[in-house]
Amino acid sequence: TTMDAGGGLRTPIVAVLGHVDHGKTSLLDKVRGSAVTSGEAGAITQHIGATAVPLETISDIAGRLVDPDDFDLPGLLFIDTPGHHSFSTLRSRGGALADIAVLVVDVNDGFQPQTLEAIDILKRTQTPFIVAANKIDTTPGWNPNPDTPVQQTLAEQSDRAEQRLNESLYEIIGELSDNGFSADMYWRVQNFRGNIGVVPVSAETGEGVPDLLAVLMGLSQRYMKEDMSIDTAGAGAGTVLEVKEERGFGTTLDVVLYDGSIRTDDTIVVGGKNDPIVTDVRALLQPRPLEEIRTEKRFEKVDEVTAAAGVKIAAPDLDEALAGAPVRVVRDRPEEEVVEEVRQELADISVDTAENGVVVKADTLGSLEAIANALEEAEIPIVRAEVGDVAPRDVAVASTAEEVTEEVILAFNVDVLPDARQEAGDRNIRLFEDDVIYQLIDEYEEFVDEIEREQQSAIMDNIRRPCRFRILEDHVFRQSSPAVVGVEVASGTLRRNTPIVKFQGNDPKRVGNLKAIQSQGEDVDEARAGERVSVSIDGPTVGRQIDEGDELWTELPEKHAKILEQELKEDIPGDEREALSMYLDKRRKVDPFWGK
Ligand code: GDP
Repeated sequence: TTMDAGGGLRTPIVAVLGHVDHGKTSLLDKVRGSAVTSGEAGAITQHIGATAVPLETISDIAGRLVDPDDFDLPGLLFIDTPGHHSFSTLRSRGGALADIAVLVVDVNDGFQPQTLEAIDILKRTQTPFIVAANKIDTTPGWNPNPDTPVQQTLAEQSDRAEQRLNESLYEIIGELSDNGFSADMYWRVQNFRGNIGVVPVSAETGEGVPDLLAVLMGLSQRYMKEDMSIDTAGAGAGTVLEVKEERGFGTTLDVVLYDGSIRTDDTIVVGGKNDPIVTDVRALLQPRPLEEIRTEKRFEKVDEVTAAAGVKIAAPDLDEALAGAPVRVVRDRPEEEVVEEVRQELADISVDTAENGVVVKADTLGSLEAIANALEEAEIPIVRAEVGDVAPRDVAVASTAEEVTEEVILAFNVDVLPDARQEAGDRNIRLFEDDVIYQLIDEYEEFVDEIEREQQSAIMDNIRRPCRFRILEDHVFRQSSPAVVGVEVASGTLRRNTPIVKFQGNDPKRVGNLKAIQSQGEDVDEARAGERVSVSIDGPTVGRQIDEGDELWTELPEKHAKILEQELKEDIPGDEREALSMYLDKRRKVDPFWGK
């Protein structure tokens, strides 16, 4: 094929994600370490926020698993900041910035909350991935063979050790299947489009690392080559990893460039808090190679960077730039067109807010979007969603909420500024802080449930409860002032200090006030359906207003009846519901709209 002058294949971008402590950092370190020890100096290049491992080095590490002649992609670019936060941040025009992902799962620990969260993100962004089943060296009886391919080391394990490991591996495969992915050991997978390959590895001994690199390289070459074809001389496109203060440079951007190139004389457009920022590159910075680390300066200036690469951009006016936002080089296009493109992309990521709802803060645009999606699924409205640490003005917004359940701030993977924390305490604003999205949402939902339970029991305490009861024959202990009689509760709950009525036809006549309840000689606050108790009633005289065998009711104010019927019906016991509907029936025979 003919390519124009700037044509080329870029390095696929690889993200490593998984639950905390499952070995993401160790695995990246191992890949880097193997690359360094594999031979030629400078075999790997440390970028800002990323490590580039060239094909030759991969082939050195992977041995017979990778024949460089089979590949024309230049290698792999690993994003260094492991974890799904950075991953979900990392978007490109089409979706996820990472072309392929490694999901790290500890063989001993299996699927954990962040594993599931990572899976959700991978599903949503349709990112191809493989599973690194890590820490195989911890299998009891394991005989380590450093840096060897996995099948080679498996062949040298006892049957027992191999069986133990297989059990863990099949558990992981089962979990993947529960989450909708058909998976198998990578060497049994024929079609990686529909199936997930599991690669057993140890970040400690390096066993399986050759396989991991070989599978990543093979998958990229086979399924992604088309997407890797870029114009290396074209105007660059990238994503902001981090906005960072850097001594001598002011606010800088750590950027992963996934298309084209960026040069020191370029004008760039960056997504900002309000409008896109248009600014001129002042310097492009890369980490200094290890051997020059003696020099004071950590960075060296470069003239041009070509995708895929991580680079630090120094430029004026970057204070309002957002982590996760797009970066575009203007070069020979009209500036306004590029600004519009960035604005459009930001609008695609932005979150719908409502008039009332919770305040959400997150570390990046991507994570903000992920959390907004999860909140939408949980039907929790958002009043304000922003990237950044929790600040006093967030507390101010939360404190204007009309509902207690919305006097909250959900903080995802960000800090709470000390004065904001102080103010939240003063104003009784609840802060929820977590770095697992659905744990954050679970915590909030639990809080909402509790508030609702409290509110409901407060209402219940203040509301008259329906009750029908009967004066027993031969149980008159005192005629009047107060009348003391034995009663049986037919349905509902009888409480003391309650006005009592007796129906004449459908007309409730107040007969007095039930003052006290005694059960087996003890004063009690209430009596439930079926119980027999003695009660004292102020007002009536037995034989006149009330009599043995009479059916009496607690008097229900219309407003209470309405709340009971419309809001609490599900929360009161069945017999109380029955008393309520009998009471309503009677009242509505006279006034069909009573209590409605
Ligand atoms: P991360 O939170 O996912 O980045 O996990 P780390 O890379 O920090 O690893 C967590 C712990 O597990 C550290 O103490 C590592 O030394 C240990 N670890 C990671 N990978 C392996 C492994 O393959 N074998 C063993 N034995 N320990 C490991």
